[in-house]
Amino acid sequence: MRKRILIISLVITLIGMVVFSIVSADIYYRNSLNATEAHLKVYMNFYDSSVSPDAEGASLLSQRMGGARVTFMRLDGSVLADSSINEELLPHGDREEVAEALKNGEGFAVRISASLGENLMYYCRRCDDILVRIAVPTSSAWGIFGRALPTIVWFLALDVLACLLFTYLATEFIIKPVEKMTRQAALIGAKPIETEFKELQPLADIMNEMNGRIESKIGQIEEDARLNKLLLNSMEHGIAIIDKNGAVLLINDAAAKLLDYREDTGEAEGLKAEQLCALTASGEPQLVYKNYGKREYALRYTLAGDFGVLLMTDVTEIRRAERSKNEFIDNVTHEMNTPLTSIKGFAELLNAGKLSGAKQQEACSIIIRQSDKLSRLIRSIIDYSEIDNDELPVYDVDASELIKETLQNFEPKFAEKKLRIVTEIEDGIIVASRRERLAEIVGNLVSNAIRYNRENGEISVSFKADKKLIVADKGIGIDKEQLTRIFDRFYTVDKSHGGEGGGFGLGLAIVKKICNRFGWKLAVTSVKGEGSVFSVDFNN
Ligand code: ADP
Repeated sequence: MRKRILIISLVITLIGMVVFSIVSADIYYRNSLNATEAHLKVYMNFYDSSVSPDAEGASLLSQRMGGARVTFMRLDGSVLADSSINEELLPHGDREEVAEALKNGEGFAVRISASLGENLMYYCRRCDDILVRIAVPTSSAWGIFGRALPTIVWFLALDVLACLLFTYLATEFIIKPVEKMTRQAALIGAKPIETEFKELQPLADIMNEMNGRIESKIGQIEEDARLNKLLLNSMEHGIAIIDKNGAVLLINDAAAKLLDYREDTGEAEGLKAEQLCALTASGEPQLVYKNYGKREYALRYTLAGDFGVLLMTDVTEIRRAERSKNEFIDNVTHEMNTPLTSIKGFAELLNAGKLSGAKQQEACSIIIRQSDKLSRLIRSIIDYSEIDNDELPVYDVDASELIKETLQNFEPKFAEKKLRIVTEIEDGIIVASRRERLAEIVGNLVSNAIRYNRENGEISVSFKADKKLIVADKGIGIDKEQLTRIFDRFYTVDKSHGGEGGGFGLGLAIVKKICNRFGWKLAVTSVKGEGSVFSVDFNN
């Protein structure tokens, strides 16, 4: 700005100086012409009738006039005598001053003399029958300007210096307060901008208002950014916005953790993983699955203009449920297949009339046994599935009575295996539940204690005021490695029993599911070859 003011003021004064010099020179030139004209008119008075119109007269008159050139001419313009030139001269009738004198009685002209080669001012007057012309040297306009030029140049130099000084002082004076205001304006949120100059007050007011608006806008933007960050970070999904060069533009906490994002470098190491490189480089919306630690994530990459949005969703549970569902279907079909094949085979044989007598009898009892097994399997599956959708209300169940009843129902089985039953059941202990669910738990635990016991073995059942049911047996026991798995669906330690005696590996899964649903604690301890202890704590 300073530079611009300097250039502008310099140009203005330079133009001013040049125009002033030209105009002054012109005025001076005109004034000098007017003065010369007046002088010539006075000089002309030196001519009178005593002066003869010949060379002598011309010379005499010239001397009187201090050396002015004198020319006598006839009225046709032919030269009678000239004080400066002795030779014969051509007629001067066409000369401007002569033509004018012939017309108006007198005439002036300024030009470079053709005969003398200098700039002269001519004055010609008609005096009776002759024309008297006198001429004195005069300066041309350019001559005057040329003579004044060194002075003009000096003035211009002085003008440049004066301009520099003036501009410096003026800009200091004008710019300083503006600079001060600008500095104040830069400190948004600081004190309002003030100025002692009333001309700058409107500017200060506008700046203050703008600062106020900017401040509130920034506040709003910061608040929005804070809320957006809060929103993004509260998402359990990871989200990251990546530009086409792979630079992370926005990332939430979840994604930052998964992708090893470092805020100081702005780089996410995790994005360099082969799977992710392929995903982001493809240019097509895509979905891939990737494991991070023990969790499985669905990585969905979508393009939005020049950016890509990476959404990382934890699908561990969904995928586990999916796998579990498929596994369940596989197990169910597998478990159903064996009895069905057997039933179908024997039914075909019977139908073809190929069996008779004892064999026919045996085939019928196999069909009945396998059908029972199939229906028990279906019953177990239905039970197992029903627990999930069981929305029926709970009520107080006399658990002591229910346990005793269940044990009574199992008496034939105990007898069958010659088992010794030791019970320690306190009366009247109430559990908030539903009868059939409680019966399922007790039934499954006791039937396992029978099934995996030895002949003449022992079972003890205890249920006291602490509401803890303990079913212990001195049977075959379970390997330590198998202990965590026995509660899985369709898991049987000894695959060979394959449902013989009713075991499909669903009993304990049902017990576990019911306990989870009601918030009861299920536990097991076992020593291989010595026996097992199952407990359910009904305090929830
Ligand atoms: P199943 O119908 O095969 O008995 P469960 O889910 O009830 O299925 O039991 C799963 C597996 O756990 C059984 O196959 C068995 O090997 C083992 N198991 C369960 N209870 C006992 C127990 N009291 N003693 C020894 N092993 C047991």
